[in-house]
Amino acid sequence: MSKKVRVRFAPSPTGPLHIGGVRTALFNYLFAKKHGGDFVLRIEDTDQNRYVEGAEDYIVESLNWCGIPFDEGPGKNEKFGPYRQSERKHLYKQYADQLIDAGKAYYAFDTSEQLDAHRKGHEAEGKTFIYNWHNREKGRLVNSLVLTEEETKAKIEAGEDYVIRFKSPQDETLALNDIIRGDMSIDTNVLDDKILFKSDGMPTYHLANIVDDHLMEITHVIRGEEWLPSLALHKLLYDAFGWEAPEFAHLPLILKPTGKGKLSKRDGDKMGFPVFPLEYTAPDGTVSRGYKEDGYFADTVVNFLAFLGWNPGSEQEIFSLEQLVNDFDLARVNKAGARFDPDKTKWFNHHYMQQQLDLDLASEFKTKNILLKDIDVNYIALVVGLIKERATFVSDFWELSHFFFVSPTDYDEKASKKALKEGTDEILNKVVDLVNSTDDFTVENLQTNIKDWITDNEIGFGKVMMPLRLALVGALQGPDVFDIMYMIGKAETVKRIEALVETTK
Ligand code: GLU
Repeated sequence: MSKKVRVRFAPSPTGPLHIGGVRTALFNYLFAKKHGGDFVLRIEDTDQNRYVEGAEDYIVESLNWCGIPFDEGPGKNEKFGPYRQSERKHLYKQYADQLIDAGKAYYAFDTSEQLDAHRKGHEAEGKTFIYNWHNREKGRLVNSLVLTEEETKAKIEAGEDYVIRFKSPQDETLALNDIIRGDMSIDTNVLDDKILFKSDGMPTYHLANIVDDHLMEITHVIRGEEWLPSLALHKLLYDAFGWEAPEFAHLPLILKPTGKGKLSKRDGDKMGFPVFPLEYTAPDGTVSRGYKEDGYFADTVVNFLAFLGWNPGSEQEIFSLEQLVNDFDLARVNKAGARFDPDKTKWFNHHYMQQQLDLDLASEFKTKNILLKDIDVNYIALVVGLIKERATFVSDFWELSHFFFVSPTDYDEKASKKALKEGTDEILNKVVDLVNSTDDFTVENLQTNIKDWITDNEIGFGKVMMPLRLALVGALQGPDVFDIMYMIGKAETVKRIEALVETTK
């Protein structure tokens, strides 16, 4: 039997989770669920300088809101825990030591001033300074490859600052594979000797990431394209430890709506869309908008994110989370960057709006609008049922439905010109009679009475229906006139028609 699929989402808690990060989490989730595997959340907080209070909670809330909760992670099902790297500090040193003992890593004592000087010297000659095979043993750099064992020991014991660097192999061609990108090969001579461990007792991202993926029995690493340049080092580390490497899949970048460059928060600010799942208040008080608060449904976010890089190979665009789990396949993820389309996102929201329960939408509408405070939520739900096909967001509702709740206070000028003609007042007076005489006040009865009267008297439909609509709505907009009359009731209908007649006098 093959190994149980285990994937992880490994964000650094440095601020709110960008939708690119949510997409990474989603693809991990889909892959795990598709293969009956586990979706792990690991918090990569080794860089204390970049740590932001509240960021971890934000990440967890975002995943939960999207409906893609982790199976294992901080505070949940901790069989491979702890899941915060800051709580695993004690684990990493032994692995760095193991590589040193095997001659695959070394101590380096170069100070940042010395390294700066090397960098500047190289720059002056138009070269880039790389710490690796070509200079590490030449004597200008201070490391345990050139010092004697005693010298190295003495420095460490004297409390000198050091780092542990990986000894990248010289003159090797490394074969790499990525599920999305296929086979690649890399000349190890271009790699630098990355720092694995610092004398402050903290591992770097690379070491901690590999050690944890190994200890947590991760089978597939699915992450953003920005980590592709680290793949060679990661593969070399697995080899150096003698561990079986997981499979890798690097997801394509999410591009700006123009298709040029990576999608940033600034693009969202400029073009009026969020780049974060939930609203976020930074420690300095700045607020960034979120999809949830902007009125997007979680289903929308999941659906549009799935299409940023993946496609089902058919024309189908609407996918529930369940369908995505069923159809998702890393083989159908593109290499090329995925352009973010804010209009398409709205299109998805319009679709998912139609799937919501009217009563749920109504309670949200009610809580967001003070004018609805005293109105029965069941009435609001009926209104919602009549107007939601024109709405993308709950925030569109008032504009589409105010006339179900309050009488028009004025009449649209253009609409009035179009609807009010010679004789309109007589027609409207007759409609008032018809409305008054409709005892059983149903949509069907109103419709029959008024339409029959129009037909019998050979009056153009527009001549009646346009002013009637104007009277009820204040404009030539809105759902079916008979639905509106039925909803607002006989007395209010009569009142509104009479109010319009009054203005024509
Ligand atoms: N901590 C890294 C990040 O913030 C994780 C990269 C990876 O998945 O290996 O994205």
